[in-house]
Amino acid sequence: MNKKKRAEWISSILDSLYPHPKVPLHHKDPYTLLIAVVLSARCTDAKVNQITPHLFKLADTPQKMVRLDVKEIQEIIRPCGLSPTKARAIWQLSQDLIEKHHGEVPRSFEELEALPGVGHKTASVVMAQAFHIPSFPIDTHIHRCAKRWGLSPGKNVKQTEKDLKSLFPKDQWIKVHLQIIYFAREYCPARVHDKKKCPICSNLIG
Ligand code: SF4
Repeated sequence: MNKKKRAEWISSILDSLYPHPKVPLHHKDPYTLLIAVVLSARCTDAKVNQITPHLFKLADTPQKMVRLDVKEIQEIIRPCGLSPTKARAIWQLSQDLIEKHHGEVPRSFEELEALPGVGHKTASVVMAQAFHIPSFPIDTHIHRCAKRWGLSPGKNVKQTEKDLKSLFPKDQWIKVHLQIIYFAREYCPARVHDKKKCPICSNLIG
């Protein structure tokens, strides 16, 4: 099976397992999603979802966020890890949104990636999940699966993003990236995996 056919076949399995994948991070608008994604660096989505209600109760807009002290933000988000860095980034990016973007989250990679604490993956998540603009955020789960499925050599996330974008139709990118995340969490963990029980590799590799 060539890569394109394999991608199609994997997509059909993912569709049957996760027909309507939901965005895992709870949010109510682009700003709260952006903050949740910043918090999710090296932290589980479940933990972020536990923390954000407390934070958003105090500050769910950039204007309210900059009224908080960085130390106050740090205290609330501590369970997410890397709290000094994340708190500074959250405060500063909120300030930048007010000063440079009228308090709105911008809709371009260039402007998003210019914000403190926002790299290409975070920008891709916001573009895909908040604005529904076709993007393929590559997190560690997707990177691992793409390599294990032989869809990309797994050299680096940049290469994986390029390969997956060429293998899956553009109008499917947002759905497929969410489906792979759910699949990876359920069946394809980094350490243990049982090929015989796996709905994809049990058929794919034989
Ligand atoms: S067997 Fe399943 S868990 Fe292992 S690499 Fe394949 S898809 Fe992932």
